Amino acid sequence: MSTDQPGQSVGPAGTFPGFSGPHAPKDDDLYRCVHCGFCLQACPTYLETGLESESPRGRIALMKAVREGRLEMSPSVIGHWDLCLQCRACELACPSGVEYGRLMEATRAQVGQHASRSFTERTARAIGYNTLLPSPTKLRMAGTALKLYKKTGMRTIARGTGMLKLLPGDAELADRYLPNLSKIFFKASGQVHPAQGVRKARVAMLAGCVMALAHAETLEATVRVLNRNGIEVHVTGGQVCCGALNTHFGEPDSAIEMAMKNIDSFLSINPDAIVSASAGCGAAMKDYEQLLINESEYADRAKQVADLTKDVHELLVEQGFDAPKQALNVSVTYQDPCHLANVQKITEAPRTILNSIPGLQLIELGEPALCCGSAGTYSLTQREMSARLGKRKAQNIVATDAAVVATANPGCAMQLDFALTQLAVSDTSERTTKVRYVIDLLDEAYSLE
Ligand code: SF4
Ligand code: SF4
Repeated sequence: MSTDQPGQSVGPAGTFPGFSGPHAPKDDDLYRCVHCGFCLQACPTYLETGLESESPRGRIALMKAVREGRLEMSPSVIGHWDLCLQCRACELACPSGVEYGRLMEATRAQVGQHASRSFTERTARAIGYNTLLPSPTKLRMAGTALKLYKKTGMRTIARGTGMLKLLPGDAELADRYLPNLSKIFFKASGQVHPAQGVRKARVAMLAGCVMALAHAETLEATVRVLNRNGIEVHVTGGQVCCGALNTHFGEPDSAIEMAMKNIDSFLSINPDAIVSASAGCGAAMKDYEQLLINESEYADRAKQVADLTKDVHELLVEQGFDAPKQALNVSVTYQDPCHLANVQKITEAPRTILNSIPGLQLIELGEPALCCGSAGTYSLTQREMSARLGKRKAQNIVATDAAVVATANPGCAMQLDFALTQLAVSDTSERTTKVRYVIDLLDEAYSLE
């Protein structure tokens, strides 16, 4: 059967499960690919491996083959899809407008539906995607437990006794990747932070999941920066994680439930905009209309939230922000998070903000469009590729000689931090580059006034 035409969705005797159900990839998306290959050189996993099966075109060919019942959804096929970072660099390169991100999200939902997962993976998914992420309270409890684990010496005991080796899954790896958590977590409880001076806008702000635990200080800085620029900030109660991780990793039902809670929360104050300080979360909320397209009660309000959502840099530049008056003498390179550059198409606003800071020298990074290898839980599940891409990004950063690498996404911030440390260890050199958020640098510059 030709790969250009849709075929049967279920193969003989049920051996070829194909795609089915409400979250199946749409044929309109799937059959738009004309195999031109323009996307190949944009794809990090193709650049690293040189393999067609690790390219966007190759992965789409596998989707078509499974869709048409020519290929089983085997562990090997799933492995090629799993190695995709969903960085969506391929979308920018594609002249046919293939919506690759949507295709891959739908494909991963099919994997969840048709393929059997190991006990460890099912347990990890049940805890991570369906218990912790939908509940900020449980997430904070888990965060507190992690802090205790690191502070009380339990970590030293777990490492020293080899206990981690006995736990299911790769507990040793998870332990290595444990981020440093904030002293005080950022909590959304309906707090209102008034604008300084004349109020220009009233916004609802997403606290998020990982960022609220690991980079709470940056969320506090975001509030200060917005207030400083005449924007009243409501951290509305009842909000939860944006659902991006659930969507990307094949858990659409829980993502939809989380989106509904956020829609109710944000729209309760009738905001002028909804702001996210995290690139991945902003991208997810801008896609709520698509995510909730089959939910008749929520479809209109999902569109409203998608239309109102702004990345914090986008909002500041659109509304107009005050350039700091005091100099911050520091050299900075900027890392474009994929979900800001490739998905939200925002590359200039963070640079405009950095360039507005007197004394700050912005040095452009080599290979700016290449993913850093973070990609949500990818750094845990695909550690080899994640480490290779992290190293490549860290080498590009070090080559700029900048004192700081600025970013706009919590996953990237953690991956850069880890990769820079690992690079220094492997080179037996001293790590000198700090990881900061763009918004932290602006906040620091304001604080000097
Ligand atoms: S999303 Fe990124 S990793 Fe996946 S196929 Fe596209 S370019 Fe490659
Ligand atoms: S650039 Fe677009 S149409 Fe061409 S192979 Fe890649 S996904 Fe297919």
